[in-house]
Amino acid sequence: MNGSASRAGSRNLLVAGAGIPGLTLALALKRANREAIDVTVCDPGLSAGAARHRGRAFAVAAGPRRMFEQLGLWEMIAPAAEAIRDMAITDSRLADPVRPTFLTFAQDGETTPDGAPFAHMVEAEPLVEALLAASREAGIGFAATGISAASPERDRIRVRLGDGRELTASLVVAADGARSRLREAAGIGWVGWSYPQSGIVATIAHEREHEGRAYEHFLPSGPFATLPLTDRDGRHRSSIVWTERQADVAALLGGEPEDVLAEIERRFGLKLGRLALEDGPSAHPLSFGIARAFRADRLALLGDAAHVIHPVAGQGLNLGLAGAAALAEVMTEALRLGTDPGAPEVLRAYERARRFDTVAMAAATDGLNRLFSNDALPVRLARDFGLGLVERMPGLKRFFIGEASAARGSQPRLLRGEAL
Ligand SMILES: Cc1cc2nc3c(=O)[nH]c(=O)nc-3n(C[C@H](O)[C@H](O)[C@H](O)COP(=O)(O)OP(=O)(O)OC[C@H]3O[C@@H](n4cnc5c(N)ncnc54)[C@H](O)[C@@H]3O)c2cc1C
Repeated sequence: MNGSASRAGSRNLLVAGAGIPGLTLALALKRANREAIDVTVCDPGLSAGAARHRGRAFAVAAGPRRMFEQLGLWEMIAPAAEAIRDMAITDSRLADPVRPTFLTFAQDGETTPDGAPFAHMVEAEPLVEALLAASREAGIGFAATGISAASPERDRIRVRLGDGRELTASLVVAADGARSRLREAAGIGWVGWSYPQSGIVATIAHEREHEGRAYEHFLPSGPFATLPLTDRDGRHRSSIVWTERQADVAALLGGEPEDVLAEIERRFGLKLGRLALEDGPSAHPLSFGIARAFRADRLALLGDAAHVIHPVAGQGLNLGLAGAAALAEVMTEALRLGTDPGAPEVLRAYERARRFDTVAMAAATDGLNRLFSNDALPVRLARDFGLGLVERMPGLKRFFIGEASAARGSQPRLLRGEAL
């Protein structure tokens, strides 16, 4: 990369943050516009490559999966992606001997319009590896350093990198995570709070096959989800996302590995036979937050820099990917018209496209967590009645798996599986 991120005369984008949404935006934009735009991604974490994502896995919804197919990535990711064919939801206490199932999302064709699984569990390391390889091939530049300052000028933004270099760009995208330095420097407000909970993630091996079935047990301390992963070296595996009261995490995870495994077994049960820990556990303090705006002068917020939600529905990354699809689309429209892709009207169109769905999803996941992380009897009875209703209404089920919005024509083209 030289002193300016662009060749003379061409437009250029600088993405701060090589997480999955940042890399996806860079790739989608570059693929659709090639010579019309230079794209550079900078992140101090790039020096560690994809390995820093080892041990994490995400439920990737049908819309983002269609986008990865459209970008030619899915065939690279597919060997590390396990379809969630069925999901059972229970609402019980830890000591309850039986956990009745209130809601199921079977793979019966009513879930996604094309009859495909409503989500896949995808391991983060191979996904990031595929994104990095495709980005290099597309001619995207990389800098293993952070953006330390950015100041907008009339028709560009001036940026200082962590290594002291200065450059300019048509637009900077802040995909630099929940504590976005660029968001703060731009003076964009943040409405948010911390949950008194942590999300514990781990990979476990089990004796029997999961057959593509996920479980979410709503326990009084928070949801405990088991999500199917691909087999590795002949071992059947699942990912767990276990929400616990923050005050209890040290005691639960501080013991010997066999004690930790015993706690997992109490929640997971023995339906898949004996368990073994493969990766983790690691605990992540949980919070909620949404930026008061998704844009400022020559700056767009993407991913957790724009919104952080509870992992109860596994939708945080999916929201970031929807943002990447929307931003790539409005910037591509501007470039094809020969106009400035970092102009205020382009960023306004991005914000309009994402604001409503993001706020709706953030509020729904917050409500879901509050409703279920609660042991009061009237609340339990009301929510179990509610789950029973959802079970009988396919339209509502579609809303819960995030597919209702993807089926609407107003969704970004890439999420509908269409090219930019
Ligand atoms: C327990 C748990 C389970 C989850 N499960 C799911 C799931 O199943 N499905 C789902 O959709 N979502 C899930 N999520 C949400 C998901 O993890 C996040 O939404 C997603 O990882 C956010 O990605 P990001 O790239 O925006 O942010 P981050 O992953 O935080 O990445 C930010 C990047 O920016 C870089 N950076 C920081 N500062 C700078 C700077 N100044 N300049 C340049 N780069 C910088 C960092 O090095 C980092 O690489 C889960 C979250 C938790 C806590």
